[in-house]
Amino acid sequence: MGNGPAFERLPPGGSIKFKCIRCDVCCGTGPNVSLTIFDIIRMAYYTNIDWRQFIEIYVDVIIADMLPFMKLSGIGKGRCPFLRFDEDDKTYCSIYPARPMKCRLYPFIVMSPSSEYLYVDRKCPGIGEGGMVRVNPVFLKIYQRELREHYRRLYRLVMDEGYEPLQALYKALSDAYDEAKSGADWFNIEKLSKIEPIVEQ
Ligand code: SF4
Ligand code: SF4
Repeated sequence: MGNGPAFERLPPGGSIKFKCIRCDVCCGTGPNVSLTIFDIIRMAYYTNIDWRQFIEIYVDVIIADMLPFMKLSGIGKGRCPFLRFDEDDKTYCSIYPARPMKCRLYPFIVMSPSSEYLYVDRKCPGIGEGGMVRVNPVFLKIYQRELREHYRRLYRLVMDEGYEPLQALYKALSDAYDEAKSGADWFNIEKLSKIEPIVEQ
């Protein structure tokens, strides 16, 4: 028997008591971080790796229901390849400015690109520490817009244009890469980094 649900559902705008204590629970034990095409292009740019190579090294792709899904691959028991420890044994993310949108929001979790309801992963040891915080609605809007756009593009390529799922993913990534080169707003890592995902209540 468990001790209640693993994820707590929050009403729109709901707050929790939370402060990140920089342990290694989220990034060290199976990040399972789902990724969008926008996450990939930002991370590949930041790590100075071609996006095709980035996928081969760092991303697991599975095909389900005719659609490709991507997640960060883990090392050993699932430790994120970008997780590092400082001299005080505290964890930090080596790609922090370009980390995936899902990582920015943790321990809050978006289950649907269209719902305002959020979930909180109760296994995060930072819950109960610090003051009351909530998700920044400005950040949430951007994240959900990216999620919707990611799936809209993949659906269109697979369902309307007849691409195989993996081909669709590479086409969507290639298109996103071209947009990034043309200065798309979503590719502005500096601007994105200025938007705090989690703010004080
Ligand atoms: S978000 Fe939670 S699980 Fe992740 S490092 Fe911070 S305290 Fe630990
Ligand atoms: S990308 Fe960074 S924040 Fe996300 S799981 Fe890896 S180390 Fe953690």
